Amino acid sequence: MTYDQLPRVYLFGTGGTISFVAESRTDFANYSYQGRQLTIQEMLARVPEAQDVAEVLPEQVINVGSTEVYPKHWLTLANRINQQLSADAAAAGVAVTHGTATLEETAYFLNLTVLDSRPVAVTGAMRPPSAMGTDADNNLLDAIRIASSPNSAGRGALVVLNNEIQSARDVTKTDSYRVETFQSGHMGFLGYSDSDGQVVFYRRPERRHTSDSEFDVSGVDELPQVEIAYAYAGVDGIVVDALVAAGVKGIVAAGLGSGGSPSTFMAALRRAVAAGIPVVISTQVGTGRVLQTRRFVEEGYIVADNLHPKKARILLMLGLTRTSDPAELQRMMLEY
Ligand code: ASP
Repeated sequence: MTYDQLPRVYLFGTGGTISFVAESRTDFANYSYQGRQLTIQEMLARVPEAQDVAEVLPEQVINVGSTEVYPKHWLTLANRINQQLSADAAAAGVAVTHGTATLEETAYFLNLTVLDSRPVAVTGAMRPPSAMGTDADNNLLDAIRIASSPNSAGRGALVVLNNEIQSARDVTKTDSYRVETFQSGHMGFLGYSDSDGQVVFYRRPERRHTSDSEFDVSGVDELPQVEIAYAYAGVDGIVVDALVAAGVKGIVAAGLGSGGSPSTFMAALRRAVAAGIPVVISTQVGTGRVLQTRRFVEEGYIVADNLHPKKARILLMLGLTRTSDPAELQRMMLEY
């Protein structure tokens, strides 16, 4: 293939470990305080193999550790991607580099707000580019391969690290340092991006996403504030009451087991519902659904299905840009 026949991929850099250069090859932990950051152009220059895969156009959106990614950055990134894809009908897709701490949240936001079926592949690294055995370069190449492959289209935003392609909806970070940290629980990953250069899928996500999404954020300047309240043995209602007093627009409860929590905590959630604040019950256990049980329905809660509390928060934030009707918000929780 000649260069002008290669698929065109837009590469958006946001920072994260994948961009950090440490002082030594054995620094796997202190680099984000002591190291310097590569630009997305420098990161791409480390991977000349990408030139055989795609015409890659890099752009730095922000350059921060992902603990410093805020909802305003999600809006900027989603709007920039939508703008670029609509401006370039011939583009193959988009790759995004990101810190791993909040990668799954940004990816799910893009899954719900990029209104285009072309691939969006989000990647990061667990070992900085300066470290022995870094996964930075390979993950970047994989994201470019996935973004350039027609096989990846129509599957929503995708996450790739460790050669495993995951759905943005289901994936979560499960380990603080291992390169296989991103897992999708019972759902499993969708496919592989292996060293033969093939992008191989076995499944496509069923829930609504991207081109089938109702969440157009082109005119949205700020997302409604939604916070998560975490339950545990003996938790009282102090945090939930404080959230209501602070004026949050929605609350996600990270409940115990099947979603229930101590009566002290549940009483505070009932007070929030009575104050007109949508309350979503999710579970902190990692896999499995929260059901529309008689109690949850009678007490006016919305249930998160099997969405992780952090994902339910994002969906509630987006839902609240369109409606505050609990029945509509419940529909969204069950459709996306
Ligand atoms: N502190 C880093 C970040 O989230 C961790 C990582 O990228 O893996 O930006």
